[in-house]
Amino acid sequence: EKITINYVLVGLAIALFVVRFMCYEDIQRLVPQWENYQHMNVPQSRFNAMMGELCIWLIAPSNVFLFMRAFSSERTAKWFSKFISLPIIFVTLFFIDPMLINMIGSCHDNFAEMKMVEFMLPLELGATFALAIYFFVKDIKVRIAKPEYLYVGLLSVVGALFAVPTYIFMFFFGKGYFGHNPYGLSIYHRMVIYICFLAVPLLLYFWLRNQGRSKIRFALIVISLGVLICFMYANKYTKLDKPWTYPWHLCNTAVFILPLCLIFKPKRLFYFTYFINVFGAIMATLMPNYGANDTMFTPEVIRFIVNHMEAFWMPLLMVALKLYPRPKLKQYGYSILGLAGYFLLMLALNINFNGVGPGHVNHDVDYFFIYSDYIGKKLGSFGKNLYKNSLIEFKIKGVTYQIRPLYQFLYYVGYVLFGFAMWFVYQLFFDISDAHYAAHVRLKGIRQDHIALMSALNGRSIHEPMEKDAGIKLELDHFSKKYGTNKHYAVHDVSLEVHAGEVFGFLGPNGAGKSTIIKSIVGIQPITEGRMRVCGYDVQAQPVEAKSVLGYVPDHYALYEKLTGREYINYLADIFEVSLEDRQERIDKYVKLFELEQSIDNKIKTYSHGMKQKIAIISALVHNPKIWILDEPLTGLDPTSIYQVKQCMLNHAKEGNIVFFSSHLIDVVEKLCDRVGIIKRGELEAIESVDNIEKSGKTLEQFYLNIIGDNVTEAGK
Ligand code: ADP
Repeated sequence: EKITINYVLVGLAIALFVVRFMCYEDIQRLVPQWENYQHMNVPQSRFNAMMGELCIWLIAPSNVFLFMRAFSSERTAKWFSKFISLPIIFVTLFFIDPMLINMIGSCHDNFAEMKMVEFMLPLELGATFALAIYFFVKDIKVRIAKPEYLYVGLLSVVGALFAVPTYIFMFFFGKGYFGHNPYGLSIYHRMVIYICFLAVPLLLYFWLRNQGRSKIRFALIVISLGVLICFMYANKYTKLDKPWTYPWHLCNTAVFILPLCLIFKPKRLFYFTYFINVFGAIMATLMPNYGANDTMFTPEVIRFIVNHMEAFWMPLLMVALKLYPRPKLKQYGYSILGLAGYFLLMLALNINFNGVGPGHVNHDVDYFFIYSDYIGKKLGSFGKNLYKNSLIEFKIKGVTYQIRPLYQFLYYVGYVLFGFAMWFVYQLFFDISDAHYAAHVRLKGIRQDHIALMSALNGRSIHEPMEKDAGIKLELDHFSKKYGTNKHYAVHDVSLEVHAGEVFGFLGPNGAGKSTIIKSIVGIQPITEGRMRVCGYDVQAQPVEAKSVLGYVPDHYALYEKLTGREYINYLADIFEVSLEDRQERIDKYVKLFELEQSIDNKIKTYSHGMKQKIAIISALVHNPKIWILDEPLTGLDPTSIYQVKQCMLNHAKEGNIVFFSSHLIDVVEKLCDRVGIIKRGELEAIESVDNIEKSGKTLEQFYLNIIGDNVTEAGK
């Protein structure tokens, strides 16, 4: 696709939009009000007036969607220009007259402006319509898939809401117009603002986190451009020759910075807004510089909510949705340097624009609130006095300027320190959202597992094995595991089957992933990908049934030390609902085998390591599990105990059960196992029967070293 042609065409359309936009000196003055509509000299029905107003509103988001199509050939951009922008522009063509009458209704005192708007609006609509048709023809084959309707629909509404021209509220509510104070922020406003502050970002987060990256970016660009347009509607931005009217305040600059960060991805600028603007927006919301008033939807209040809200949550949302990584100390450093530059510039502008003297107009500005005691006052008499006492005056060419070095320096330092502290607050919220997302993914997995289970059971009882007639079997099917937010797999794509009567040994160096596999089988760790089945029971979908056939001896176990050995084993037997006779018989058998007759009725805290290990083993066997899993069972045992435990394992397998254990003691594995699996850095490198290894003339040690460490075998030759 020839992007350059798009750029030229769309550049033209943007130029027309901006010029039309700038036709008014003060857009708020122009709007006829709904409530006194009848009294104004505007010849049209209420319906037309309303439609005209709606069209003026919707032009903005529709233009945003359309312009984005020029810069992107992604499907998302195509949908929006085709299915949203084109229909909207088409409808506006029928309402050019009402739109014009609305726009210039009260403009009769300014003939030039009126003529300009009359000329520009049809031109703009004609151009954007032609552009929309051009893209429509190019994208004629592009369709929306069904699940995407929700995204397109929701984003259109969100885009329209954020791109609201602030005077729309004057039109419908009639407040804040001539004679009213447009700057009202009562307690009710505050409530609305605080709720919006919390609700909007949360809603956006929950909605967007399940979308792909490019869709997240697309949606955020639409919103940030919408806010920019909303902001522009509320400002007298046309006075380019009057820099004291520019939006210099920090939260105003954020409105321009955020779309830039989304479109061009400049890292330092982004982290500047992350550290500096976000904190500024929070402070501005907590202490807005407007007096209380009873009007609700004044343009100024709406503008205030929309642009401070965005400055607050947009950067946080961009990090939460992983468009930018979480910042580091270095980025904080750059940000406070940037703030220093901004601070000095504002100081210079404040000093200059507030100079008093012949030939110098005092514009009475207070950018970043560093030039008045507005912030100082909030700290009580300390701040007030500091402000008053740190004054230094100087004269240049007869004009008197003022500066308060100490007050302004401490202001800067305070901002930097509080901004730093807020970093940890944001971090806390990210941790909460990450944990919540992990839980959400798990829940979704559980639901899917349940559906898969029900369909596999096909009407059988939910307590029956998912795989019918599986018998005694342990099965790993493309099992993979990642821990937490770790990017790397701890275990990757392991498939394996162990059958009745087998002793299976798992070998591998420390950290290879043996415990990870074992913990996933027994249900301590959730499975990231793949499935595991024990005797036909799905480990994830049927966790309770799966556990009923498993016995587990962990590598680091904790027993209830205040119980006696017998009490502890009985406790486990209770959990597994073992009958009194069965448990009695088994306890007697194993107590005898392990020679624990003397100590079984003593408290566990008096036991040696080996005795505790034996108690852990007996309690894992008390329900006679079909699959017995042991993680490093022989570490730290004396030779007699090792012999006893090995006998116990062999006997259990001989009775037709599976014994599955991990070890790094090669000779033990060799004598005990029917088959071995060798795992290295999370990958299962080999599965072989011990007999076959012997037949090939190698010892298990040679076989193992061959696989694990080539260097070692080379050296051994
Ligand atoms: P082995 O039992 O073979 O010594 P593990 O299964 O304990 O190995 O560990 C495999 C890998 O998984 C290692 O890289 C280890 O750091 C990582 N790992 C194990 N447990 C956790 C955990 N709870 N959280 C994060 N990483 C873990």
